[in-house]
Amino acid sequence: MWVFRLEGDFESLDPLIPELFARGARGLEEREGAVLAYFPERVELPFPGTWEELPDEDWLAAWKRDLKPVVAGRFWVGAPWHAPEAGRIPIVIEPGMAFGTGHHETTRLALEALSQEVRPGMRVLDLGTGSGVLAIAAAKLGARVNAVDIDPIAVAAARENAAKNRVEIAVQEGSLEDVPGPFDLIAANLYAELHQAFAPRYREKLAPGGKLLATGILAERAGATRAALVEAGLRPLTEAREGEWVLEVFARP
Ligand code: SAM
Repeated sequence: MWVFRLEGDFESLDPLIPELFARGARGLEEREGAVLAYFPERVELPFPGTWEELPDEDWLAAWKRDLKPVVAGRFWVGAPWHAPEAGRIPIVIEPGMAFGTGHHETTRLALEALSQEVRPGMRVLDLGTGSGVLAIAAAKLGARVNAVDIDPIAVAAARENAAKNRVEIAVQEGSLEDVPGPFDLIAANLYAELHQAFAPRYREKLAPGGKLLATGILAERAGATRAALVEAGLRPLTEAREGEWVLEVFARP
């Protein structure tokens, strides 16, 4: 990564900014009386300024520094280099491998719901496990956990994260049809249309009285998702929302 330093500020250099982006700048920053323009490689520029090459480690270090741990429900989710917060159940996730670092609203909604719903000994399925974060959360609350994902990279990440957190989870590549069940709880952070398609199969895979925690649902699609789940014979219990994202809790009667 290269940085080009122009003396001035955003206001005075405003006319040059489109040209910087046109020549490949990835980002700009105003710092200490100068504008810093970041480029993946050095390019010809028709303005006075100075080039400096940044070692790759600086970027990694900056990214690590800016990544903050997350608290959701009873859980603290952080990277291996963070210090866990006292009084919360720690989940360590190696970031950048698969979805599920806790930084997305839907992951946090699911962690909050798991905090309330999971009891020791429950049979839990994490459908679309990504990093494994929800499966690890359920296992830390004493559940027996299966986790599936259609993405082999996520499967590898979930296995690695489970080992890092010293919990036993049966992680397999696949989807809802590949796990036998029945489950006392299914946590699924997918998307509205997939929940609608899966609705009858959720009912089949849940034990009587078992619960579904479905998230990844944009608020505007929640109505259609609820309708499909009711149509499949599931009973609505509660709903939670963060920003534009919704989590639905349903039960098999
Ligand atoms: N569970 C994690 C969380 O809550 O942060 C990750 C959720 S991420 C939004 C959705 C995951 O579902 C992805 O890892 C994706 O590969 C997986 N997925 C998508 N479609 C799927 C399907 N039909 N069956 C199983 N997994 C699926």
